Parts: sequence; structure tokens; C-alpha cells
Amino acid sequence: MGQANMAEKHIETTLVNAGRRKKFTHGSVNTVIQRASSLVFESVAEKKLATQKRAQGELFYGRRGTLTHFSLQEAMCELEGGAGCALFPCGAAAIANTILAFVEQGDNILVTESAYQPTQDFSRGILARLGITTTWFDPMKGADIAELVQPNTRIVFLESPGSITMEVCDIPAIVQAVRRVAPEAVIIMDNSWAAGVLFKALDFDIDISIQSGTKYLVGHSDAMIGTAVSNARCWDTLRENAYLLGQMVDADTAYVTSRGLRTLAVRLRQHQENSLKIAQWLAKHPQVERVNHPALPESTGHEYWLRDFTGFSGLFSFILKKRLNATEYADYLDNFTHFTMAYSWGGYESLILANQPEELAGIRPVSGVNFTGTLVRVHIGLENVDDLIADLEAGFQRIA
Ligand SMILES: *Cc1c(COP(=O)(O)O)cnc(C)c1O
Repeated sequence: MGQANMAEKHIETTLVNAGRRKKFTHGSVNTVIQRASSLVFESVAEKKLATQKRAQGELFYGRRGTLTHFSLQEAMCELEGGAGCALFPCGAAAIANTILAFVEQGDNILVTESAYQPTQDFSRGILARLGITTTWFDPMKGADIAELVQPNTRIVFLESPGSITMEVCDIPAIVQAVRRVAPEAVIIMDNSWAAGVLFKALDFDIDISIQSGTKYLVGHSDAMIGTAVSNARCWDTLRENAYLLGQMVDADTAYVTSRGLRTLAVRLRQHQENSLKIAQWLAKHPQVERVNHPALPESTGHEYWLRDFTGFSGLFSFILKKRLNATEYADYLDNFTHFTMAYSWGGYESLILANQPEELAGIRPVSGVNFTGTLVRVHIGLENVDDLIADLEAGFQRIA
């Protein structure tokens, strides 16, 4: 399905055009919304052909996708340089089902300890129940990850920057080390933060790049979708497992995801400009201990970000000098004007959440946490950046 010819094109152009072939647009600018369970065959011969080519973009049955899905899948393959893209109802489903496609009872997987918490809970809960063990690794492990690979290790699961604490790992070192000791292992990355734009996972020899498309792809906090773009080696297995596990998304959601792609580059550029200005302001603030923003030299793995990524998005965290008590914590978070408290991120709006160090220590099984103040995670939206800074400053005054 994928025609990865983006080498000659700039990413902005790819995002505007990908998946808009005439076959998918029927004369309009955008892809048609084809809502369908049943897809009609005009003849026995047509049904036979559809059945033969059901995995190669021929209309077959709604669960295999319609033109709306095929358009998005083609666009994602072009964006991330893959052989195929599986679609899921949300990012968590993409993670769970992609892992399940490659493991069986008795296997082991390696997972970064800074993975998104539901990824961790899935490994500790559902995978453990199926007899699949998880070995956690410090995201800064680099080439030494080879020491953790066991004969039954089937998957290495990366996420960079890490959830909440934002460590950027040395992906080339990890990938090379894994390929050396376990050439058959499947290397999967949760690439949501980079939106498939700021980090080209498959160019770094990662097999499958997963996104919570709920975040930047959709970009407007009004739909949920997961994507998994795979290289040719893993595509058949991923596709057929996802199909048998009933993973699909409705046509309307596929459509709004394609629509999100058209403005993704320009949105990311503004998230980047706003988030850098705020991160730099925070780094000088007397009430801030440390800013975990990959573009700042003090952020863990900054040198790897500089080498491997082409930009940054709106999501980062900072650590306060003090640990807020319960009253301060509520007063701080309850009274922002522009920063809303909500899970998720990647929409046009700014968001804020906080974690106490002991809460985070519980999901950092190898290295724990090396700070004592309250951690604040922000998603910097598309508002005017000076308004956001004023809002954050008022927050600091509440807890001074
Ligand atoms: C939100 C998120 C997910 C899960 O995505 P959903 O679409 O909410 O299921 C996965 N990984 C990361 C890094 C996330 O932030």
C-alpha cells in the first residue's frame, strides 16, 4: 500500500498531498467518507478478485477498511516510510495489539521504564497473565541493553522522549545492540510525541512506529485513533493479527485524522515556538528546579534529541523546587485561566497536570526518580504565548 517516495519531497508538501489520489477523492479536494460494513460485488468475478486482494487495498468488507481508511493508511505510510499502516480505535489499542501480534506464552519483552503508564499496566497485567514476562530498562541504557536480551526476548519496546519525565534515549545504539544479539526481535516505538514528523522511526531501523493519533494527528481533542506503521518484514503479521482481533476504526474518525494531517506541520511549528519560549522562561524561574524539555541542554538525553530529531512538540514537564502540599497542589491547579486540567495532549489547547515524586517512583521500576519537588507536565497549545506565561506566573505566585 505504501509508496514511500517522500525522500524528494518536503514534509509539509507530503502532509498536504498524501492519500489524496483521485481514487480516494472522487473529484473533491478531500477523501470521500465511505461509511460501510457491506461492500457490494457486482459479479462473482469481482468478489473473487476482492477476496484475493483484500489485504492490498481492494474493497472487501468494512472491517478491512473503505476508501476513507485506505487513504489515511497510504498517507501514514508515506509520512513514516512504511510498508503498511494498521488502524486502531485508540493509541492504547495500537500498543496492546501490536505487542500481541508478535508474542506467545513463554516469551519475554523489553520495555522502557519511561513508557506510557497504560503500556506498563498492559505488560504487568495482561501479558503477565498470558505467561509473557517483561524486563524493564532504564531509557538511558544505550548499547548495554544487549545484557538484558534473553533467548526468549521477542520485542523491544521504546518510547522517546519518555512519558512525563521526557528522557530521550540513544535509539541508534539500542537498535544496533538489539540487532546484533537478537536479529529476529521486533523493535517497536511509541512515536506519539514526534507525531511521525519530528522523528523518523523506520529510518532508524525500528520495525513499527506506533502513534496515539488522538494526540497530534487529530490535533483537536475530539476523536481517538491509534496508528501502527510497519516495515515490510513485520507488516503481514501485524495486519492479519489486527484483523483477527477485530481492530478497526470508523470512517468518520479516519476522515478527521486525514484532515488533521493537512495542518500538522504548521501546528507543530507553532507548538514548538511556544513551548521553547515557555521552557526557556521556566528554566530561569526561581521556583523551578529543572525543566525536562528535550531542546534544553539540562534535559536528559538532549544530545540524542539534537542528533536524531528534527524538532520538538508542545509537551514537556518541569520540576518545582518544593513539593506542594495538598492545599497548595489544589490551589495551584484549580486556578489557571488558560491551562486546563485533562489527560491527553496534542490538541490546539494548553493543558496541565502534576505528579508527586512518589507517584512517579511507582512507575520507574529500575532507576526510581532523582527529584523531590512536584513535577508539572504541560502541553503548550496554540494560544498567544505571552498569555500563557502570565497564567503560569500567576500560578507561581499562588504557591510562593
Ligand atoms: C495518550 C498516549 C497513548 C494512548 O493513546 P490513546 O489514544 O489515548 O489510547 C499512548 N502513548 C502515549 C505516549 C500517549 O501519550
